[in-house]
Amino acid sequence: MKNTDKDDIATIVRRAVMESLAVNRARQTAPEEPLEIFTSPEANALKEEILRVGKKLWERQYVDGNGGNISVRVSPHYVLCTPTLCSKGDLCMEDLSLVDLDNYQICGDRPQTSEILLHLEIYKAVPAAKAVIHCHPPYATAHAVAGVVPQGNLIPEQEVFIGPVALAPYETPGTRAFAKTVLPYVKDHNTILLANHGIVCWADTATHAEWYVEVVDTYCKTVMIASQLRPKLNEIPPDKIVDLLAIKKKLGLPDPRLKSGADAAEAITAGAAVSQEKASPVKLPANYEIDELVSRLMSEVLGFLYRAE
Ligand SMILES: [Zn+2]
Repeated sequence: MKNTDKDDIATIVRRAVMESLAVNRARQTAPEEPLEIFTSPEANALKEEILRVGKKLWERQYVDGNGGNISVRVSPHYVLCTPTLCSKGDLCMEDLSLVDLDNYQICGDRPQTSEILLHLEIYKAVPAAKAVIHCHPPYATAHAVAGVVPQGNLIPEQEVFIGPVALAPYETPGTRAFAKTVLPYVKDHNTILLANHGIVCWADTATHAEWYVEVVDTYCKTVMIASQLRPKLNEIPPDKIVDLLAIKKKLGLPDPRLKSGADAAEAITAGAAVSQEKASPVKLPANYEIDELVSRLMSEVLGFLYRAE
């Protein structure tokens, strides 16, 4: 075989390698198409879940008037959310919109909720957060108004699913300053009281975030009633709290008491980061790596040709 033939084969092999890398890179970096996401069967299922959750919040009187809002992360960069000025009991599919993490409304006719900044801060701070609910359940909001965090270690469900409740300071609703009030707490707490306002919960699904609303409001109510029966309430013994924290750790829920619990939240975060990493653009190999690959493929091609002769 002439050297010029070998050069031709090397050129073909190199072109094949480079084209394959380009296709791979294009696949990995293809921008998400927002309209496709917004109208996909997955997004429609999430929209239906938002409608169901909205109805539950309204029926349980956790939202009043047009109060409260729900959002769900539908892809790494986009979030479905409820509109402003709409009762959560009357939501329909067409009311929902798609916003990106920079707070631009991309799809949907109705203006997004004015509290979307709060939701977006949580999604950016906690990759494990896939759904956020803000609402005004009366007993939890009563604690937020009084500036009183309910006593802990009283009921197992509270300890496992929520744990110590954080209290974020007051800021004017709808502002960026308000959205940032939760940041010191949001990694270690899935439920935060918002002073003189209401609560916010995040979870892996909208359904679970609504569960946390139910758990915390019922807890606040029970603690208020129990305190009227007897000012000093009986706490679960510390060794039994350890058992509950072990369950919590297994569920991967955040809790500031767990050294490893905080790690657990980070583990979820890391998990999400890993899956995001998978979706991140593939790194192109260095030139010397391409040269090595071309030369390896060349010797295989030539070996095959010589055998064929
Ligand atoms: Zn509110």
